[in-house]
Amino acid sequence: MKRVLVVEDEASIREMVALNLKMAGWEVVEASSAERALELMHHGETCDAALLDIMLPGMDGLSLCETIRRENNEIGIIIVSAKGQESDKIRGLSIGADDYITKPFSVSELVARLEALTRRIKRGSVPAKPAEEPEQLISGPFVLDEKSRMLYKNGTAIDLTQVEFQIMELFFRNPGTALVREKILEGVWGKNYFGDVKIVDVNIRRLRMKIEDEPSSPQHILTVWGYGYRWNG
Ligand code: CA
Repeated sequence: MKRVLVVEDEASIREMVALNLKMAGWEVVEASSAERALELMHHGETCDAALLDIMLPGMDGLSLCETIRRENNEIGIIIVSAKGQESDKIRGLSIGADDYITKPFSVSELVARLEALTRRIKRGSVPAKPAEEPEQLISGPFVLDEKSRMLYKNGTAIDLTQVEFQIMELFFRNPGTALVREKILEGVWGKNYFGDVKIVDVNIRRLRMKIEDEPSSPQHILTVWGYGYRWNG
């Protein structure tokens, strides 16, 4: 069964969310603070996904996101921001969240997003059919190993989240091709994703920090103005 960590200090919201997720077939681990969430995770609670409210007493949801992501690249993270806090969303995505949802949200939307997120992550761990044997994609100094889901640059491993890995996969399979942001969004987040393309830009920014020698003048992930991005291996 899929497990999700729900971190929210307001008991009524947390319980409502937990109840609905349980009805949708999820196992739910609840925490009323970031500190409690970390305690649970450090005591071996493994979850497929985490839903983190930003506004928490003590450590906030963004710091929690950063801490979890530092220790775990596998878990899918959705942050919950208050309405209109655009900068929180962008900051959340740039420090490792995979998606965000704005309060007040509908539970069905939340469930849909969680399902989409874990489907994407699962897709990576399901053994490939013989016909599509995982392979090593090589481009310039980079090797993308689909079996271990690792990226190497000049032989050195670069830590990627599952979402970042999938963007790289898309680039490696379409070298030299200008990819419109909507296509990247669809290719990585799925056809029915209802977030906006800004999430692509934020992930690209994060990827550039990881793979470019000089993220401010990228040589590999090139911007195609007014359109999207192009991979140059
Ligand atoms: Ca809260």
